[in-house]
Amino acid sequence: MIKKPFVTKTQLDAIVKQYPTPFHLYDEKGIRENARKLKQAFAWNPGFKEYFAVKATPNPAILKVLQEEGCGVDCSSLTELMMSERCGFRGDEIMFSSNETPAEEYIKASQLDATINLDDITHIDFLQECVGIPKKISCRFNPGGVFSLGTDIMDNPGDAKYGMTKEQLMEAYSRLKELGVETFGMHAFLASNTVTNEYYPTLAKILFELAVEIKEQTGVQLNFINLSGGVGVPYTPDKEPNDILAIGEGVHKVYDEVLVPAGMGDVKIFTELGRFMLAPYGHLIVKAVHEKHTYKEYIGVDACAVNLMRPAMYGAYHHITVMGKEDATCDHVYDVVGSLCENNDKFAIDRNLPKIDKGDLLVIHDTGAHGFAMGYNYNGKLKSAELLLQEDGSVRMIRRAETPEDYFATLEGFWE
Ligand SMILES: *Cc1c(COP(=O)(O)O)cnc(C)c1O
Repeated sequence: MIKKPFVTKTQLDAIVKQYPTPFHLYDEKGIRENARKLKQAFAWNPGFKEYFAVKATPNPAILKVLQEEGCGVDCSSLTELMMSERCGFRGDEIMFSSNETPAEEYIKASQLDATINLDDITHIDFLQECVGIPKKISCRFNPGGVFSLGTDIMDNPGDAKYGMTKEQLMEAYSRLKELGVETFGMHAFLASNTVTNEYYPTLAKILFELAVEIKEQTGVQLNFINLSGGVGVPYTPDKEPNDILAIGEGVHKVYDEVLVPAGMGDVKIFTELGRFMLAPYGHLIVKAVHEKHTYKEYIGVDACAVNLMRPAMYGAYHHITVMGKEDATCDHVYDVVGSLCENNDKFAIDRNLPKIDKGDLLVIHDTGAHGFAMGYNYNGKLKSAELLLQEDGSVRMIRRAETPEDYFATLEGFWE
């Protein structure tokens, strides 16, 4: 698939006149259309709801757009709960899928009447001490072992710190029932960034069959099953994007095969997608500021890993378009690098690109999720602004860039 930016060079030239690079730019139209498609894919399930994983793109303007499209939020920290509260999310619109949770976070989640998704059986007692056991609760399942699709190993749940074993899960539901819980849910996140239409249906089958077992063993009838995140996006041009309509149909099919015959045809399906909802609808816009010719050819840009950590952290590929040279031959091989004193600060390594000149604008693709959000301040580098390309073509700044004053704010009074 050819990766094309969602902005044209003309649009971008105008934007950079007003807002200096680097910045993250989000595409409101793309976000809305995709959210509507997800809703359509699960329209067969009347209780369906997407809880956007706030950690992927924690910006109120983005949360508002998704709220208007009928999404709730999935939080896992105090500040994510606070941001969601300030955006007007309440009660059934908030899922709290945390782990190693501090008491203050359970207290906040309880104040907001969020649905708490327990990561561990020991947290039943802890939650009871903190705020008491709510009427509605969810439990997170981890089957252990490896998660595979056919012969492909997708991920390694047995190595993951999340969730309860099957035995713990059964015990947890029985205890929670005794403690007065009336509405139950189940959650599992078994593979990350899957680019296959099989992940959700395969996960759903595991969870649906388990739900039937839970009913038989404990008498607990689940009200919802949360398929969580993990539906991915094609970062590299050789991959095809997931077909969310096919994924929804795949889940529908196993629902009809497993849950309906068991008399559980009223179970609601929830999702907690982050990457799928936002990644393709964000670009990191940077400018080429230096070129260096030593043992390799380097292009230095005005952003660095603090603005996008995924390449440094995971060796992740992010496609790059040199604006105005979309159709030029990729006859140069570059490392595209930032300015950190850290050699993993490279947005691209040995990448075939057209000849890049100083001043060229580069679009780094698929940065809308887990992009700005993973930012940090190494080397005293500052986080960039975030801009929203609105449906009418105008641009709105939805977060200003950090200033040195922001960086020094936590040191106020410590200068002697
Ligand atoms: C990170 C996370 C998500 C979102 O994952 P994506 O890969 O972005 O879809 C959903 N739920 C939980 C609990 C998470 O930690």
